[in-house]
Parts: sequence; C-alpha cells; structure tokens
Amino acid sequence: MKNIIINTFVLMLIVSASACVNKEKNTKSENKEDINITQNHSDVFYHYSIWWAFVNKVFEGDITAGELKTKGDMALGSYNLLDGELIMLDGKLYQAKEDGEVLEPNDSLKVVYANAAFFDVDGSFKIQKAENYDTLRARINEQLPSKNFFYGFKIKGHFKYMKCGGLNKQTPPFQEGLDVLIPNRPIFERENFSGTMVGFYCPEFIGNINVAGFHFHFVSEDETFAGHVMEFEAENLTVEYDKMHEYQFVLPQTEAYDNVGFDKEFQYKKK
Ligand SMILES: [Zn+2]
Repeated sequence: MKNIIINTFVLMLIVSASACVNKEKNTKSENKEDINITQNHSDVFYHYSIWWAFVNKVFEGDITAGELKTKGDMALGSYNLLDGELIMLDGKLYQAKEDGEVLEPNDSLKVVYANAAFFDVDGSFKIQKAENYDTLRARINEQLPSKNFFYGFKIKGHFKYMKCGGLNKQTPPFQEGLDVLIPNRPIFERENFSGTMVGFYCPEFIGNINVAGFHFHFVSEDETFAGHVMEFEAENLTVEYDKMHEYQFVLPQTEAYDNVGFDKEFQYKKK
C-alpha cells in the first residue's frame, strides 16, 4: 500500500512537472507566433489582381473593402467597375468617385485591384520644396537604401497645387482597357491645402505584374479631395517609408480573370 501511495505521488509529480514544461513550451511558441505575425504584417507587400489583368479589362474582383482592411492599414487601388480610386490611410478607406466626390465606402464594396501594407516607418526625411513629381522622385531615389526592394510611402505636407486623376465607372461588356481609359480619365485639381500621398515603389523587375516605379494616391486633410497623383507642387513634406522584402499577390477567382487575354500593355511613364 505504501509503495502504491509513493508511486502515485511520484506519478503525480511527473505529470505536474510535464504539465509545467508543456505550459512553458506553449507560452514560448505563442510568443514566437506573435513575433512572426508582427514581422509578417510589417514586411509584406500585399497585391490583389495583377496590373496586367487590370489593364486588360478585368474590372470585377472578388475581395471586399472589408477584407482589404485585414491586409494593411494603407493601400491604393480601385473598386469594381472602376467605380472610383481607392485610397487607404491609417486604416481608413476612401473612394474618390468619377465626379470628384470622396466617400467612405461600405465594407461590402468589391475591390478590383489593390496594393496594401501594414505601414511601419523604416526611414523618414524632410523635403522643404518639391517643384513637381520629378523632384520628389529624384529626392526619394537619393534616400532609399536600395532600389531592389519594395517600399510603402506616406508623404504628408502642404500642396500649393495638386492634380489627381479619377476613373470613369464602366458598364459591361467593357469596351476599353486602361491603356485607353487612363489617358482619358477625369482630372481633379486644387490649390493651397494639406494632405497625404499614400503609395508604393516596385522595382523594374516587376514587369507587368504591377506598376513599375512609383505609384501614389492622395487624400486631403479635410477628406474632400482624393485620387491618383498625376502632378503637384509641394512644400514642407515629410516622407516616411517602409521597406518590404516579401511580396504576396492574390489572383481573382472570377470568370473574367479565367478568360483574360494579356494582349494590351500599359505602364505609367517611367522616370
Ligand atoms: Zn493609381
């Protein structure tokens, strides 16, 4: 009997000790997972639908605005049927409609093309005066640690002039691709106001998968003016960048994408 009691006691000790080890292991692995999630969030460039498909009239996607918010807190892109330019800044999503109106879209609105990231600042610098887009590109190029990575940007400041492009909403069957629609896009202009450019840089090797070089969208501080950045004059800019070394692209699972032919090519003028 004594032996049985001792054995039971020893067994209990072993069980309780192993429970302790397991608990410790769990805690460790949970911590490790937390770290991985944080790293993944901040280092992944998320990309929905390839640019080439978007150029070739794949104008209906199968992810929602709500889903996009789980992929980043900053983004650019467009909504289904080209119903406006998409801008996300600090987790808030905007829709710049073809008439220039800026809305906060419903989470159920579908997205046709997007770039997104969870923004963390890897570097920042100030630019006192940027006469135009070229000046800004040149200044950023001087500052980036390498042109062979992907970058996210938030560029805040005072804009003496801003020219943004919008998109005309399409109805199926679609006649033209972006090669025709972008040169004929609606234009919005404003002077002397504050706002933030949100955008990305992709190295040239990205080819037709995404926009090569810089691509910026914009939203004014008062949230009434937004769109795709075409030209500007700015001062007192603060440029923040997030260097990213992982790239995730997600293809649409739609009939339009199943059957798209990649005959048209279009890239913004490279500088
Ligand atoms: Zn754009």
